[in-house]
Formats: sequence, C-alpha cells, structure tokens
Amino acid sequence: MSNSKPDNAALHALFGGTFDPIHYGHLRPVEALAQEVGLQHIILLPNHVPPHRPQPEASPAQRLKMVELAIEGNPLFSVDERELRRTSPSYTIETLEQLREELGKDIPLAFIFGQDTLLTLHTWNHWESILSYCHLLVCARPGYPRQLATPELQQWLEEHLTTQPEKLGQQPNGLIYLAHTPLLDISATEIRERQSTGRSCDDLLPPGVQKYIHQQGLYR
Ligand code: ATP
Repeated sequence: MSNSKPDNAALHALFGGTFDPIHYGHLRPVEALAQEVGLQHIILLPNHVPPHRPQPEASPAQRLKMVELAIEGNPLFSVDERELRRTSPSYTIETLEQLREELGKDIPLAFIFGQDTLLTLHTWNHWESILSYCHLLVCARPGYPRQLATPELQQWLEEHLTTQPEKLGQQPNGLIYLAHTPLLDISATEIRERQSTGRSCDDLLPPGVQKYIHQQGLYR
C-alpha cells in the first residue's frame, strides 16, 4: 500500500450482487475500499439471476428497492438497473462488454467483488477475458482462503496483482487489487435465515431495508 492517498476520481467502479437483501457486509467494505483506493463513486449493479441458478427470494423490483433504500442520501453510491431491466439474464462479462463500449477503451473501469467471488471466478462464462474489460477490486471476506483453487489460477492472479492503488487510474483495465477492507461476517443467507426464524437483524443491514423487509413480509 502506498502512503499517500491515491486519487482515482476517473476510475469507474461497479459492484455487482444479488443483494437478496443488501446488507452491511456489502456496504461497509466497499465504503472502506473507496477510501483506500480513492474512488469517488460506486455503481451498484443488481444481478439478473439466470434460471439454472438458485433464485433470489425477493423479486427484482424488491431487490432494487432495497438497494435504493440502503444508499438513500449517500452520494458515494448509485444504482444501475440495466441487468434487472433485461427480460433475459445476462452474464457479467456481457454487461462489462457493453459498459466498455459506452465508456470507450481508455477510461479506467473496475469491477468490485468479495474474496468468495474471486475464488469462484474461474466458473464464470469467459472469465479469462474479464481483465481485458476492467480491473478487479477484491474486498476481504472472513472465512474464505486467500489462495486460489489451483497453482495455475494462483499464477494468473499473481501475474495481474498490484499493491499500488494509484496504478488503477493509470490504465483502463488488466489489474487485480486485493483490498485491506474490514472483515464483516455477514451474509444475505444468514439474514434470510434469521428473518425466517424471527431473530433480530439489527446490526446486519440498514434500518430502512429492515423496515421494507417487514412491510413486504419477505424471507418468512
Ligand atoms: P448469499 O448469502 O445469498 O450468497 P451474499 O451475502 O454473499 O449472498 P451477494 O449479493 O451474493 O451477497 O454478494 C454480492 C457481492 O458482495 C459478492 O461479490 C460478494 O463477494 C460480496 N460480499 C457479500 N458479503 C460480503 C461480506 N460480508 N464481505 C465482503 N464481501 C461480501
């Protein structure tokens, strides 16, 4: 890590997720990441989950509403509804391809995810080409190893790794940065389980989102 705070104002950063529901394990690490890397803005990208994968319990409209409630009044965040608006699911790589076309080839673009997602990245469609569209910013997550599944994957990671966040704004794509973000042991799965058994989720997600979950009778 460099000592001076990097200025990556030009870096376009997206954070994809199912957000079923959005919680502090999503929000706190990416807020810390913004500080660490010097991001001015983060675009949340709720996913359209393909039919062959386990379906979210909340509808796309409910997931979107929860994201909107979670970021209300916080200028760091906005939401991109493009995947939810589609009638058919799309792969992340297709969304990145589309964004790259919109931004042009020179604007630095970053995709954010947690360590668990880094560990399964090689199962994504066309994962090998992801770094030709963007950088990857990885938030730490408790309970997941730092090492990738095979020596080949680990080598791929190390070839693209940077420990200097300022580099992210100096080239459009191709780098991986493992952030030193706080470890929050929170998952949407745990929140859904707690809701279904009537246990409190007070410390796990924003009050506005909790209220909405109750109003809508979600995760019962
Ligand atoms: P589920 O429990 O339903 O699998 P989740 O809590 O992992 O959900 P997702 O919406 O699937 O949430 O995650 C979106 C992104 O946020 C993923 O890249 C994931 O790695 C990251 N993420 C989720 N929770 C955390 C956490 N506690 N710390 C760091 N990253 C997280």
